[in-house]
Amino acid sequence: MRTVRFELLRPGELLEEMKRFSVAYLPVGPLEWHGPHMPFGTDPLDAQAVALGIAEKIGGVVFPTLFCGTEAARDPEILRRMGFAQEDLYVVGMDVPRNPVKSCYFPEEVFGVILRENLRQIISLGFKMVVVVNGHGADGQLATGARLAKEFTNTSPATVLFTRAMQKLDEEDQQLGHANISETSMQMYISGDSVRLEELPPREVPLRTCEWGIADALQFQGKGNPEAVVMHDPRDATAALGKRYVENGIARISAQVLDCYEKLCPPSGQ
Ligand SMILES: [Zn+2]
Repeated sequence: MRTVRFELLRPGELLEEMKRFSVAYLPVGPLEWHGPHMPFGTDPLDAQAVALGIAEKIGGVVFPTLFCGTEAARDPEILRRMGFAQEDLYVVGMDVPRNPVKSCYFPEEVFGVILRENLRQIISLGFKMVVVVNGHGADGQLATGARLAKEFTNTSPATVLFTRAMQKLDEEDQQLGHANISETSMQMYISGDSVRLEELPPREVPLRTCEWGIADALQFQGKGNPEAVVMHDPRDATAALGKRYVENGIARISAQVLDCYEKLCPPSGQ
């Protein structure tokens, strides 16, 4: 195939690929605050890079990235883990009060409708499998994606997988997070000139989540430190580490897709 990108395919090319390997990928993620050092599109662009990598490796067609994702107001316990003293503060997602600009989050019910319609359109083209490659870790995002994947798998002709672009490198990996070392590294690898570490304060200044809107996943799980300081610091990011995360996502999701596809369409002669 000339390209794996749906928007650049002619009908004949699309039909040819659907006959060979009938899988569509949909990268998804919100335009969101990722610290002063990274672009708004970090999550969807990470998801897009992984989706393109999977399609180039095993086949299938990548749909245009859905720059769409959801967040909700933080509850008191999470606010505490982020380092806030005030329990009734209204903080949506990573939009801490000190940020000079807000994220473009969709309410959960709107995100659900948009994702639903995108899945319906892709399935109506006749794909046997649709793989949502999700770049955003909010609870509402994960629940909505998993719910729709289950629903369409059981009520439409297609199987829908909901997957995460960024996954642990191994069981011991504790570095996942929001705009911390893992995401910053990934973005450096994908588009280095979009990251400017010098927009962050000097290395010795601790980055508190409540002040910078940057976080380790461990903090949300209650395994951070009492000061709510980011431990896996974005100022230690490297493109080489980012490459490992991108390749890890490609390898893990590719294996999952091939396994599922083989069950749907066993190779002929078996
Ligand atoms: Zn992110």
